[in-house]
Amino acid sequence: MPSRLKRLLQSSVLLAALTYTSVLVYQRNVSVPDISTNQVEGWHERAPQSWREEDVAAPTAPEARLTATAKPPGTRLHEIFISVKTTSNYHKWRLPVILKTWFQLAKQQTWFFTDSDDEEFQKKTNGHMVNTNCSSSHNRKALCCKMSVEFDFFLESDKKWFCHFDDDNFVNVPRLERLLGEFNSQEEWYLGKPSIRAPLEILNRETKPLNKGNVSFWFATGGAGFCLSRALALKMMPLASGGKFMSIGEKIRLPDDVTMGYIIEHLLKKPLTVVDQFHSHLEPMKFLRQDTFHDQITFSYSRYSKDEMNVVKIDGFNTRVDPTRFLSLHCFLFPYFPFCPR
Ligand code: UDP
Ligand code: MN
Repeated sequence: MPSRLKRLLQSSVLLAALTYTSVLVYQRNVSVPDISTNQVEGWHERAPQSWREEDVAAPTAPEARLTATAKPPGTRLHEIFISVKTTSNYHKWRLPVILKTWFQLAKQQTWFFTDSDDEEFQKKTNGHMVNTNCSSSHNRKALCCKMSVEFDFFLESDKKWFCHFDDDNFVNVPRLERLLGEFNSQEEWYLGKPSIRAPLEILNRETKPLNKGNVSFWFATGGAGFCLSRALALKMMPLASGGKFMSIGEKIRLPDDVTMGYIIEHLLKKPLTVVDQFHSHLEPMKFLRQDTFHDQITFSYSRYSKDEMNVVKIDGFNTRVDPTRFLSLHCFLFPYFPFCPR
């Protein structure tokens, strides 16, 4: 190689490296902004903190750079444990579209937690179906049982992040990876999105007389997906591992996602960080703008009535072929996929 070309190459690599490092250092020094979206009058001081990428990317305090510490290298996909809650009756209705789309981008780290042995789907997922032996009914106990198994499975893994989703979620895998890259898994993080506008208030059933009364806490909606850092999961271990998650759910008589919020926010006093890009079908999907799809982390779908669906608004495949719109969404996000029209 001519030496001038070599020098030019060397200096551009150096410049790129320097730019990258300063961006990383710059980003790391901005703490999670104290801005809340899901607030209700009077609850401001208790509202969970909201995370916005703009605040991290365009910080307002230049002096932040002076106290720079290195940002951990962005999370890589293989460091994430993705669990999807499903049930026998839904396998053939809900899993095929997932397997055709986003599962292809995270085959190694995605596991399906169900309640039966299903040879067909065991094959289709390369052995990634886990029979939790929990009951296959949609009651609190069965759902807490599944979450309990998911949590224990994560603890046994060597992954840095635990992310839970429902089987009617579409996960924008590269976007999830990018999100987690902004946080240090060695710090305690509970990332997700509440679906109620005020913290949940419940009657405290704890036995200590001093603790009687109401307790209130935020929780991330399970149907939108949420993530926990390993540091947080380790803190939860004495309370929630080895099936204890299920017992807490039983004690407070609340669903799995609420139980998660109770353990993290109420028992451990670790706040939920709101990430607005998680979406459950409790939100009207049609209001998500197409020009923001790349930035959203999860999507979902549901049926409003016999002939009306709550789905993402996007052109593409015929609604008979693609009733959930996930195929069309996938092709919008990842047009190079073989099944996408060219
Ligand atoms: N689910 C389950 N057991 C059941 C019914 C549902 O594990 O008996 C799971 C289902 O696979 C999904 C989640 O629970 O991941 C939520 O179920 P669904 O979407 O039917 O109800 P939703 O609560 O969203 O209305
Ligand atoms: Mn659902």
